[in-house]
Amino acid sequence: MIVAIDGPSGAGKSTVAKAVAKKLGFSCLDTGAMYRAVAWRAVQDGVPLDDAEACGRIAREKEIAFRHEAGDPVPRRVFIDGDEVTDAIRTAEIDRAVSPVSALPSVREALLGQQRRIGAAGDFVVEGRDIGTVVFPDAAVKVFLTASDEERAHRRVRQNVDRGFGSIDYEEVLADIRRRDAYDSGRKTAPLKPADDAVHIDSTGHYIEEVIEAICELARQSQHRAAL
Ligand code: C5P
Repeated sequence: MIVAIDGPSGAGKSTVAKAVAKKLGFSCLDTGAMYRAVAWRAVQDGVPLDDAEACGRIAREKEIAFRHEAGDPVPRRVFIDGDEVTDAIRTAEIDRAVSPVSALPSVREALLGQQRRIGAAGDFVVEGRDIGTVVFPDAAVKVFLTASDEERAHRRVRQNVDRGFGSIDYEEVLADIRRRDAYDSGRKTAPLKPADDAVHIDSTGHYIEEVIEAICELARQSQHRAAL
């Protein structure tokens, strides 16, 4: 069973997806981390971010892998071609690089295949921008998670303070969130948009636990229907 969680940057998708996966006993796939890993490799190699051929080659040929910490069911560590990039893909530089790279059809096509192969392996909570529309259009549960721009920026700043990297300048983070939203929504291939049958959840002013429980309940209802 696939639980698809889409939405704009900073809506809380990662936190929610990981918590829902833990509660349901599902695996979890962060597709944004895959686009970030490709962008990171492109930046390291000095590849222009609009070079469809070179960026597409990175996405096709470099193996992206997720690993678990001992005792943690959720895979939080990210590797590309054996290099650990868990923290390196969360910098302001990669925040800026990832949108142009992820707009390239060559990159999307390569990662789409990988995402479908991973998701086919079992029960997954998959988070991204196009999961309910393109990657898993038959997902049992589709959620479009949003929050106000300001709340998303505040959350992202708090997250960056906690983890000790990424920008902690509120105005800079707010501008980045708005820039990425516009870029992700406006691109031709697989733009950020809700699936027609997605359940919209606006987390502004809500405790994250309420959102997690609401999505778990949607998954339980879907499991119940499937068992009838
Ligand atoms: O989710 P996260 O903010 O880490 O995603 C980083 C970027 O990757 C997004 O801004 C978007 O450009 C891209 N992305 C995408 N499709 C997905 C997931 C992420 O285009 N399914």
